[in-house]
Amino acid sequence: MKKVLKKNIFWIAVFSLLVIVCLAVILLQRFTKEKLCAEIYSEGKLIRTIDDLDPGKPYSFDVKTSLGTNTVRVEKGSVSVSGSDCKNKICVYHGKISKAGESIICAPHKLIIRITGSSGPDAVV
Ligand SMILES: [Zn+2]
Repeated sequence: MKKVLKKNIFWIAVFSLLVIVCLAVILLQRFTKEKLCAEIYSEGKLIRTIDDLDPGKPYSFDVKTSLGTNTVRVEKGSVSVSGSDCKNKICVYHGKISKAGESIICAPHKLIIRITGSSGPDAVV
């Protein structure tokens, strides 16, 4: 009887540990996700930052420069260029970016949208 009880306690401990590890991983992922932000550069100059890539509601805004206008969309942890009056539209076709270090470049408008944050290897403790 005592032996069975000991065995049960052992397994309860193992499962508790597993649950704790899983929770820690989930929390860590959430934490790193929240830290993602984006920077928009025009002709090499930082003109706007997006602090949170995961707003409750998706939204768009226009980035107007002397070279043209790009419409930037922010939703569910990603950034994309939903519209542009540039010649080649490569920035629009590029689609969404959602990881730190990724960027969308609009060469005709000299515009760069880059995701920054600690979702890279830095987040691993
Ligand atoms: Zn473009």
